[in-house]
Amino acid sequence: MVEKITSYRFDRLDQTLCQLNKEDCAIIAGGTDVMVLHKSRRGVPPKIPKPIVFIDHLSELKRVYQMDKDLHIGACCTYSELLENPIIPIPLKKAIKTIAAPAIRNRGTLGGNICNASPAGDTLPLLYVYNAKLLLRSVNGDRVVAIRDFIQGVRRIQREPGEILTEIILPSVLEEGAHVVFEKVGNRNADAIAKVGFAGYIRLNGPRIDEVRLCFGAVGPTMVRSIDIEKKLQGKMIPLADADISQVVADFGKIIKPIDDHRSTALYRKTVALNLLRYFLSMKHM
Ligand SMILES: Cc1cc2nc3c(=O)[nH]c(=O)nc-3n(C[C@H](O)[C@H](O)[C@H](O)COP(=O)(O)OP(=O)(O)OC[C@H]3O[C@@H](n4cnc5c(N)ncnc54)[C@H](O)[C@@H]3O)c2cc1C
Repeated sequence: MVEKITSYRFDRLDQTLCQLNKEDCAIIAGGTDVMVLHKSRRGVPPKIPKPIVFIDHLSELKRVYQMDKDLHIGACCTYSELLENPIIPIPLKKAIKTIAAPAIRNRGTLGGNICNASPAGDTLPLLYVYNAKLLLRSVNGDRVVAIRDFIQGVRRIQREPGEILTEIILPSVLEEGAHVVFEKVGNRNADAIAKVGFAGYIRLNGPRIDEVRLCFGAVGPTMVRSIDIEKKLQGKMIPLADADISQVVADFGKIIKPIDDHRSTALYRKTVALNLLRYFLSMKHM
């Protein structure tokens, strides 16, 4: 006999938040992670242990707009929608194009990638170097939290009961001047889970570095970023001296601690991560 589960699909965000306030529900946006997480054997529907609330259709969660120099992206925008939107930064589009195949990109959302908190989430290294802030809403109001504080471990996020991630805010991303790079190494260009992900952000003042941000994915339980290491590059002249590059590579070598798994070895991941770092720091950033 097929088991019945309760599911909700409200017309508005406020109705959805009221339900979440009354009852602990599993939130489903695109469902591309949820359905895999709860899958049963072939031919048997997934077993989700709670009532379900669908949010992917809510127009309040699908807006993309500019406020001052910040870009606000609705959490339920699908990858395909973001690829078609001219305001989305090119590096983010580059990262999205490496995710899965079009069928998954038509369902999967940016908010889902964040809330799933996989160490191999492809948008995450980039969102970290953009210093993304997350707008969370519940019946008690809104709060804004930095992505690096929100993601706490493998599939562990700091979401309070009853909260929905409504927007991803990329501060000052529409300001000219920063050079942002995204690289993913997997078995093929897309439709493969990352062995290593890397994002680099650099802003120059003439030949000097004003700010640099560096982040690695799939080489630890969460994204690896170190503001202390980044600060050491502030004020340095471009092109960087070999000794400066080697120092930063050595510093990251101490904190990048990948694991061996069915996708790759720890040694391969670490070697590739540090090679990507060296490549980024050696670029002329014109
Ligand atoms: C075949 C396949 C290939 C894939 N390839 C890749 C890949 O190459 N790279 C990659 O990074 N990922 C990949 N994924 C994983 C997945 O597609 C992405 O992580 C996607 O972004 C998840 O979005 P979603 O909307 O489907 O999330 P869902 O499955 O709906 O949700 C994921 C989690 O986030 C929570 N959640 C979702 N939205 C919100 C919200 N707004 N507020 C609060 N909680 C929320 C859900 O409750 C759930 O816990 C793949 C998945 C499949 C099935």
